[in-house]
Amino acid sequence: MKTLVFLSMVIAPLTLMGQTIQVSLFDNANSRAYTVSVQQGRYLLVCNGEKYGEYKKGSIFYVSQRGDMVEIRDKNSLIGVFPEVSVMHHDKQCVLTVKGINPETLSQLYDDALVFKVADNKLRAINHIDLEKYIAGVIEAEGGIDAPLEYYKAQAVLVRTYTIKNIYKHAEEGFNLCDQVHCQAYKGKSMRNPQIYEATRYTAGQVLVDTDQVLAMAPFHSSCGGQTSQAGIYWQSDLPYLRPVNDPFCLSLRNANWEQRIPLSEWKLFLSASGVTKPENYLNYQSAGREQFFINGKQKLTFRQIREKFGLKSSYFSIEQQGGEIVFKGKGFGHGIGMCQLGAMEMARVGYTYIDILHFYFHPVELRDYREMELHRY
Ligand SMILES: [Zn+2]
Ligand SMILES: [Zn+2]
Repeated sequence: MKTLVFLSMVIAPLTLMGQTIQVSLFDNANSRAYTVSVQQGRYLLVCNGEKYGEYKKGSIFYVSQRGDMVEIRDKNSLIGVFPEVSVMHHDKQCVLTVKGINPETLSQLYDDALVFKVADNKLRAINHIDLEKYIAGVIEAEGGIDAPLEYYKAQAVLVRTYTIKNIYKHAEEGFNLCDQVHCQAYKGKSMRNPQIYEATRYTAGQVLVDTDQVLAMAPFHSSCGGQTSQAGIYWQSDLPYLRPVNDPFCLSLRNANWEQRIPLSEWKLFLSASGVTKPENYLNYQSAGREQFFINGKQKLTFRQIREKFGLKSSYFSIEQQGGEIVFKGKGFGHGIGMCQLGAMEMARVGYTYIDILHFYFHPVELRDYREMELHRY
């Protein structure tokens, strides 16, 4: 039996629960169909503003693409074909399992609501989720599951800052952010460490701003290897609050030092292909700190290009010829800009607060509540 209800009545409980964000799930998979099952709470199925019933734990939906429309079935029958299908949460603690079919994806758990629509011949599954629950999910995907609370608080502020700053990144496609590293990795509900939710609750609304009160860039990486990178060394331009910081906190931890070997012939071939006329002049280099250019003159070659070509852990390395091999002797893991996650975990472990941690890696910046920043509302 279908009952006509006003869409606003269905959406109202969502807005009462706080700010929501729309995240495109399995964004790189291009699945032609999805299986959705209710894990927890009560859900309403709404198609084109019409309510098609209430669903509880154990209910399953089969969603597929039919041209530019969405076809949906439950356990018993074909419900219909619609331009848009919404699986709306009715309670605060509602959880769905979502799995992409053809091509198949992992089966993952998601909080709150799910909306299906077809755009550019692609069936999209868009998670409409409370902002703070989304932030907790990103922290779990990007920040590890076994770290101290103050580290999680710092990570929460950075994830929230990125989210608000990039809230229109996918606006033309009809959602806010995707769930891939193109935006921020998001693999669904945070479940493996309750401290992650505690951190998002404690820092609710807090973001980093620069001295002009503009939302800051809020990058982080796994390990800086002892020195973070000036933004312009790796990116296109510098920022006053993203300058090199000497970090003694990550030095004894994993990836502080690494080595990778390639055949000498491969190195010479790469240099030639990059336009270097005398490759034999570039077989040894002793790093004295992070730099942008490995070769800087008429010919140009950046450390970032070398890192990307050979899949190195970082762009902070020395080069040594050993017989028929080139050895990269490097430090750190990741782009090196902003917060060093391993360093921040260690700072938290020895007693620094999340505010100390953020000011250590970002300077000068301030903490603000984005909900009080009219310009950045969305
Ligand atoms: Zn994206
Ligand atoms: Zn570090």
